[in-house]
Amino acid sequence: MDAKQILADARAIEPWLIGIRRQLHQTPELGYQEFETSATVRKHLAELGIEFDHPVATTGVVGRIVGQPGPCVALRADMDALPIQEEADIDFRSQVPGKMHACGHDCHTTMLLGAARLLAGMRERLRGTVKLLFQPAEEGGGGGKAMIDGQALENPRVERILGLHVWPELPTGVIGSRAGSFMAAVGSLQITIHGVGGHAAFPQTTIDPVLTLAKVICELQSIVSREIDPLDSAVISVTTLAAGSAFNVIPNSATARGTIRALTTERLRFIKERVKELAEHVAAANRCRAEVVWNDMDYPATVNDAHCWDVVRTVGGELFGPEQVRQVNPVMGGEDFAFYNEAGVPGCFVGVGMRNEQIGATHFVHHSKFKVDEAALPIGVALHVAFALRSLEELRR
Ligand SMILES: [Zn+2]
Ligand SMILES: [Zn+2]
Repeated sequence: MDAKQILADARAIEPWLIGIRRQLHQTPELGYQEFETSATVRKHLAELGIEFDHPVATTGVVGRIVGQPGPCVALRADMDALPIQEEADIDFRSQVPGKMHACGHDCHTTMLLGAARLLAGMRERLRGTVKLLFQPAEEGGGGGKAMIDGQALENPRVERILGLHVWPELPTGVIGSRAGSFMAAVGSLQITIHGVGGHAAFPQTTIDPVLTLAKVICELQSIVSREIDPLDSAVISVTTLAAGSAFNVIPNSATARGTIRALTTERLRFIKERVKELAEHVAAANRCRAEVVWNDMDYPATVNDAHCWDVVRTVGGELFGPEQVRQVNPVMGGEDFAFYNEAGVPGCFVGVGMRNEQIGATHFVHHSKFKVDEAALPIGVALHVAFALRSLEELRR
């Protein structure tokens, strides 16, 4: 594997990459609706002579670059956008009102297409098979899980996987990740307190669910501060409240929603149990009844395989220089790449730096002014390619 050549080849296709990325950026689609995006992916794979399965998980595409007989390694990109009205300072802004690629998934799809192009050009020398997983619905829809249910990791069985995410905390040129827990396990919480409504001037004739819900919310904050090891990390954030419609009426019920995060899936499970117990008992002590519902699909923690992170560090050092590869702290954001690890495939999820003050690429993901330094595109391409080649060499031994 000639790292310098891979990086040079990735940089040589930068205009092609930027063209694809900007087209995707202007036509964002939400989870499981990535029909145009999926068609664009398939068009490019077909042009490159790469076989693929479609549909997998509604809009997903599984490409296969089959080289010599040998192991199989997967590279993964997500394709979905967010329901955000774009306000970024660029001239190829989203053409779709209320939808925006504010998490950089247009870049991830482009990076994987770039890797497909380079790997297709070295097919005969490939020491195995590289699968290209273009998945839908990372933003809450569990598209990764749907891909696994659609057999994306089988035939041939994937033995190792890499996922990339643009990383606004790192400058362009730098990549970062870590061994072990890198991104949080995520659950959603909804608590409804049922009481008895009535005239607000006669509270003795009611059972007030609003006061009880307020007590529950306060109690929940004792879980992280009193029951979790201070050196471990967890978050409980209550983010929405809904109750009542008149100033002088105590409502029958009150509802809070929010999110729970932890750095291990087991810790998330523990917090969920405690949230339910606390809510039910605080409610009972106040003559109310708590109904705790977990609305959306939980995401497991993204736990990087230590050896896969070693491979990323090694090939990253060869490609970009060792000083450009950083070990970074875990973050409490969630990522459905975790499902591939949970399915038993060792892998690494890596942040690709794209922060650049000079062009105003400083906003965080999910911000309406989020902007990417496109010089990061060939960096992601080169990392995908080098990881796949090195992994196939290793797994063949
Ligand atoms: Zn996101
Ligand atoms: Zn994302």
